[in-house]
Amino acid sequence: MRILVQKFGGTSVATEERRAQVASKVSEAVHCGYSPVIVVSAIGRSGDPYATDTFLTMVKGIYPDLPKRELDLLMSCGEVISGAVLVSTLNSQGFEAVLLTGGQAGIITNNDFGDARIVRVEPGAILNKLSEGKVVVVAGFQGMTEDGQITTLGRGGSDTTASALGVALNAESIDIYTDVEGIMTADPRIVEDARILDTVTYNEICQLAYQGSKVIHPRAVEIAMQRNIPLRIKSTFSDTPGTLVTNMHPDRGVGTDITTDRIITGIAHTLSVTQLRILKGDAPDLHLTDKRIFKAMALADISVDFISVQPEAVLYTVSDEVASKAVKILENMGYEPGVVSNCSKVSIIGAGIAGVPGVMADMVEALSDAGVTILQSADSHTTIWVLVHKEDMVNAVKTLHKKFQLGV
Ligand code: ADP
Ligand code: MG
Repeated sequence: MRILVQKFGGTSVATEERRAQVASKVSEAVHCGYSPVIVVSAIGRSGDPYATDTFLTMVKGIYPDLPKRELDLLMSCGEVISGAVLVSTLNSQGFEAVLLTGGQAGIITNNDFGDARIVRVEPGAILNKLSEGKVVVVAGFQGMTEDGQITTLGRGGSDTTASALGVALNAESIDIYTDVEGIMTADPRIVEDARILDTVTYNEICQLAYQGSKVIHPRAVEIAMQRNIPLRIKSTFSDTPGTLVTNMHPDRGVGTDITTDRIITGIAHTLSVTQLRILKGDAPDLHLTDKRIFKAMALADISVDFISVQPEAVLYTVSDEVASKAVKILENMGYEPGVVSNCSKVSIIGAGIAGVPGVMADMVEALSDAGVTILQSADSHTTIWVLVHKEDMVNAVKTLHKKFQLGV
């Protein structure tokens, strides 16, 4: 059996017209001899009647502290609804489609409600349905614990569902269908002349995704990468080839090897983080300051990013939602943190950055010529990050996109 996983995001299943386009992608797969396994996200975005955020707003307005277990039951409904609607569309077009919840599809997770990790996949139920010639639709973003509790997988969870199923079913490819034509050199909502990348490595897309390109969830990339299952990012609404994510193993015989002929692959950005700056002053136990601060953050379950530990100061960022909690903790410890809210992290990513001198210099020069203040910077062998004021973010992304000639 040649299995193809096709994942359709929220915008792709929002209207009957769009679901008809989804059906034509499924039909193409069947005509090419594939047994398709379809993963769906919930319909629409916040405010739309069947969007997950809408359900959350509804219960939070009544009782803000609904236990996580019940929240997960609620949040798993959006994908079940869109799955049932898509099955209706498929059946109306002559397919024999069946819907499985994440648990029914064999997705077993730990019990970390709201952000559960997939521990294994038992593909038996899906394989049975496929062998009966059915098109299997799986509700994305959800799984089930060993003892039968329903869990959700956190942001981008449907991408993770698709990858986990692709690996468990040894699919020929995991196709992520969305509202853009592939992975682009920057978010097309910001950069008008962003270009579609034909091929990227798992590593590059993972970096892009971790740094904020929400086109695919990084966990999904990591899962596909473990077994070298090719990922393709494509548009539901066109027939262009999209972006192929792979390591291009020669034994697969697909395409050509990716050479690092480009220095920069793409630019990513995050919205709204808060920078905290703690001056260590001249406390007698200075050497313990860093340890204390990060331990306190960890105890409070606050994830920190962009950490810079210097002899005189500690700088790091936290998400805006937890910023005031973090500040309170620091104040209780006797520090007076400097707080810069509304910051954005802008990153340039490319496997070719390593060992190429002057990339950082070019970045700094371009940004300062464009009047963008750099609040902090850091680099690794594939990424250079800068932290800027949120109001400078669009300018920074556009400037860097131009500087590194990424446009069409
Ligand atoms: P879906 O609902 O299909 O999962 P998402 O909204 O999660 O769709 O992801 C698609 C969106 O990702 C695009 O509409 C685009 O604005 C955004 N995006 C951000 N960075 C990039 C990038 N580098 N390439 C393509 N799209 C990007
Ligand atoms: Mg998505």
